[in-house]
Amino acid sequence: MTGTPAGNTPGNTPENTTAHPGHRVLDGTARARDLRAGVQAEAAALTLLGVPPTLAVVVATDDEGAGWYVRSVSGAARRLGVACEVVDLGASAAPELIEATLARLSSDDRVHGILLQTPLPDGARVEQLAASIVPEKDVDGANPLSAGRLAAGLPAYPPATAAAVLDLLDHHGVEPAGRTAVVVGRSPAVGRPTAQLLLQRDATVQICHRHTKDLAAHTRTADILVVAVGRAGLIRAEHVADGAVVVDVGTNTASDGSLVGDVDAADVARRPGALTPVPGGVGPVTTALLLTHTVRSARAQV
Ligand code: NAP
Repeated sequence: MTGTPAGNTPGNTPENTTAHPGHRVLDGTARARDLRAGVQAEAAALTLLGVPPTLAVVVATDDEGAGWYVRSVSGAARRLGVACEVVDLGASAAPELIEATLARLSSDDRVHGILLQTPLPDGARVEQLAASIVPEKDVDGANPLSAGRLAAGLPAYPPATAAAVLDLLDHHGVEPAGRTAVVVGRSPAVGRPTAQLLLQRDATVQICHRHTKDLAAHTRTADILVVAVGRAGLIRAEHVADGAVVVDVGTNTASDGSLVGDVDAADVARRPGALTPVPGGVGPVTTALLLTHTVRSARAQV
């Protein structure tokens, strides 16, 4: 396993905490940089072949966090030579309009990847609407068909966040096969597909959620603990076994406006083991993989 000792990574471990010498920070920025370089090279090659890779992002919300994410995806795409078309339908868009837009983009030969940004307006369900994204362009694995194929072990784009969890584990030399993995969170976008991917990689997988009794009793059994809940500080040292690898998917805004995960990083750093930081862990790898999926989809059309 590669990684940075916790004490050497500013931002992850507050100065007033003593990190265990055997605690590692599993950074995602270097991996994201490599993935982005791959996207840039492939986008240039595809553009030369007359197929400029294009991602369409459908937005129907004025949620601030969603807006930030869309700006960050479209900025990264453009910097790497991937065209990004943001289709903003407004926060009161009718489900029928969202559905028709996804269907139109699905049949548009110029578009290779489609992302349906959440949250959606009241009454619109992502599982229903995303069924209008053709699986070949479903680069964030939102269509229930993609989820079904993933569950059946058939080729499909997994949600980029779930793919990022496995990618980060691989990058840091953490092999899931034969390990006990616990995923906290069971959303269709993150928790469930992450559990599926870990299962495909021969981990023994358990999923926890809001109704799980005695969460710590479950999480302490994990060699690999993935947390995707959206509650700052949910996971503390008492939830984590010595030596466990913890992947923090959560993104929350702290009272001082900073971005924090679901894991109390300073507390967990008191134990030997490893933790992905927030920011700088799963997030940048997620964006890079979304664009990796987009150029892969464009390549398939050459
Ligand atoms: P979500 O749809 O709200 O799902 C949250 C899950 O957490 C649900 O399954 C819920 O259980 C479970 N949960 C809630 N409270 C719990 C508790 N006290 N104990 C155990 N489980 C609990 O959220 P999501 O879309 O999966 O996102 C999860 C987090 O990941 C959020 O912070 C989000 O911002 C972040 N995220 C990060 C990235 C990235 O690239 N870094 C990408 C996507 C999402 P029930 O099913 O029983 O309600």
